[in-house]
Formats: sequence, C-alpha cells, structure tokens
Amino acid sequence: MGTQYKVSNSVLELVLGDIILQETDAIVNAANSQLAPGGGVSGAIHRGAGPQLWDECKALGVCSTSEAKITKGYNLFADYVIHTVGPVYAGRVSDPENLKNSYQNSLDLASKKNLKSISFPSISTGVFGYPVKEASYIALKAIIDWIKQHPGIELVRMVLHSEEDYSMYKSALDNMMSD
Ligand code: ADP
Repeated sequence: MGTQYKVSNSVLELVLGDIILQETDAIVNAANSQLAPGGGVSGAIHRGAGPQLWDECKALGVCSTSEAKITKGYNLFADYVIHTVGPVYAGRVSDPENLKNSYQNSLDLASKKNLKSISFPSISTGVFGYPVKEASYIALKAIIDWIKQHPGIELVRMVLHSEEDYSMYKSALDNMMSD
C-alpha cells in the first residue's frame, strides 16, 4: 500500500511497511537517548544492521530530545541510519516543537550528507506515547515545510507499521493537501 504526493520538486510518499526493508539512502531510527537497541523501531533496526551498529552508537554518546546523529547502515539496505530521539509525550507545550525538530534535524543531517532519499517511521507514537493523529499532522507539516526550503532531496517516505496508522497519516495528508 502506498501513496505519492508531489511537494515542490520532491516526492513525499506514505507506505505501509517495515522501516528496515527500505532501500532509501537513509532510514531514521526512533531512538532512545542512549541510541541502544531496545524495542520497537530501534530494536528492529539494530537487529537488521547487526552488532557493528551498536558499537558505532556507543561511541556517539547520549543523544538529547530532538537531536539527530548519523551512523552507517551496516547490513541494512540503507547506507545510513539517522538516529533521532523524539519527545516522550506528556501533553507539554514543548512536545509538538520537539517532535517537529526531530524530523527537521534528521532532514538537515541527510541534506548535509547530500542524501537524496530518506525513510521515517512514525516517531514517538510507540513506546513514547504520542497520539498518532496529532503526531501525523506535526510530522507531515515538518516534512513539507522543510522540503519547500530545501530543493535537494528527491524522496521522503513515511513508513507506517499498521493499516490504522497508515490511514491516519493518509487522511492527515489528504486534508493538508486540499487546504
Ligand atoms: P518511540 O519510542 O519513538 O515511540 P517506537 O519504536 O516505540 O518509537 O514506535 C514508533 C512507531 O513505529 C510505532 O507506531 C510503531 O508501531 C512503529 N514501528 C515499530 N516497528 C516498526 C518497523 N519495523 N517499521 C516501521 N515502524 C515500526
């Protein structure tokens, strides 16, 4: 399942799937502050990449909320993993800003490395508890705003892990595109 939208000269794509199978230049990890394997997206990415990823992450130290760091992808299809720590949802006024910055700091890193394509999971909506509907609008607006200011990227893909999340992101994007 997938839908493509044109934003400036780039493609924004929504797909139902698994982040570790994406063949984009980079995939994004919804990481914890230690960049440690853990569960969810992070566990899957570390399993897919192999133990060298954790070795490289250990050397990077702690990652604070919204910050992004880049490593190689090792055994993954993607050449790079961009690790970002989304906010733990607590209904604070800073939560949306932090979530937006996780997306935009990841995109900034990709663009610094001259990468042309990147895949994101739905950051913060698993263990970190961000309500998916709210998070979908923040994520998509962050990506669209960033693309409009940075012509270099060719493809930004959101990889949703359930049909429910996919439909939520799709209706958010349909609403935003019809405005
Ligand atoms: P966070 O700690 O930022 O909330 P999680 O990894 O717990 O991150 O979950 C973020 C989202 O990613 C959730 O919606 C979860 O269902 C989804 N997810 C889990 N595994 C995968 C995967 N392999 N590929 C894509 N999305 C995944």
